[in-house]
Amino acid sequence: MRIGVLGAGQLGRMLALSGYPLAKTFVFYDMSGSPSAGLGEVMIDREGQYLDDFISRVDRVTYEFEHLPVEVAERIARERPVHPSPRALQVCQNREAEKTLFGELGIPTPEWKIVDSAEALQAAAEELGCPVVAKTNTEGYDGKGQAVLRSPEDAVDAWASINHPRLIVEKFVDFRREVSIIAVRSETGDLAFYPMAENTHHQGILRYSIAPAPRLEKHVQEDAERYIKALLNELGYVGVLTLELFETAEGLVANEMAPRVHNSGHWTIEGAMTSQFENHIRAVSGHPLGNVAPRGVSCMINIIGEHGEIDRILELPYAHVHLYNKGERPGRKLGHINILADSYEELVWRVKNCAQFLPGCPEFQSSLASKG
Ligand code: AMP
Repeated sequence: MRIGVLGAGQLGRMLALSGYPLAKTFVFYDMSGSPSAGLGEVMIDREGQYLDDFISRVDRVTYEFEHLPVEVAERIARERPVHPSPRALQVCQNREAEKTLFGELGIPTPEWKIVDSAEALQAAAEELGCPVVAKTNTEGYDGKGQAVLRSPEDAVDAWASINHPRLIVEKFVDFRREVSIIAVRSETGDLAFYPMAENTHHQGILRYSIAPAPRLEKHVQEDAERYIKALLNELGYVGVLTLELFETAEGLVANEMAPRVHNSGHWTIEGAMTSQFENHIRAVSGHPLGNVAPRGVSCMINIIGEHGEIDRILELPYAHVHLYNKGERPGRKLGHINILADSYEELVWRVKNCAQFLPGCPEFQSSLASKG
């Protein structure tokens, strides 16, 4: 089976790496002009003129990147199975549509408003009560196109700095920690849920994910499973879906979802019986899902901007290094390291030991750090 992947970055690379043992082959379709997957067949098509050629080369199509025209996915869907559906792509591209769907399905969100001018932003900040977070309604990722307003008077500067015609303004959530849940749905509607991860960001970029999230109460995992299940079923979804959430004193609050494999699920490559990548390939290929149980406890450390002393890390007997074959550039995701352990105590020690070889890696912070 030839799987067509829209997008050609590291997520596509890891999808292919997990699909080869199942005898899948891959054709990547890149509209950005800078593919980095580095394996499989890569078609670069900035203007969309070779789409028919791409379609003729593949049996099924999926995504590793959601910021591409929905019409492209819709056109492909008329000729080949596309998983997840173009509707899922459409909802995930638009924070207003996403938060509206969350609300319809009873998934808690921060209070939010849509604004289209600096004056409306100021009024929304007054009504919601500061602090608030203003974000571009479309096209945002890794914290880009966002500003925190500490008072309504910040509206003019925030509007100018984001420079986008339509923003969503959300009440700032006083969270204990950020978490995510990754789930997968098969063509026959079977569901599987990975244990949730605790995620630490630095300068808007994910740095550490620990899974299973330490000291997570059972009912919190159950709430997250209920929310993501509602989304999967509502969207008739096939493949891996990620839901990012804030854990607060009052329970979970949804932030956003991604219609694809996710950075906060990279730990599953060695840390779960079946990785998120393999499970996505299984689902979109029409196969049964694999076991999502964790193997011990894991921490994923992102390699950002510089590679650091990779050979020193390769010497560590508990570190699994994954490099994306990308050039160094500030803020760029170059790879990740999965650390496995039998206990959280051991995990903290191993993570700190590893992180010292990564220049610019922020000090390990997590709900475990104080104990570590
Ligand atoms: P996003 O692009 O929506 O994932 O936002 C990037 C990061 O900004 C999140 O991971 C949070 O750390 C922070 N953030 C976003 N929205 C909120 C919010 N409503 N309240 C508090 N922090 C937020």
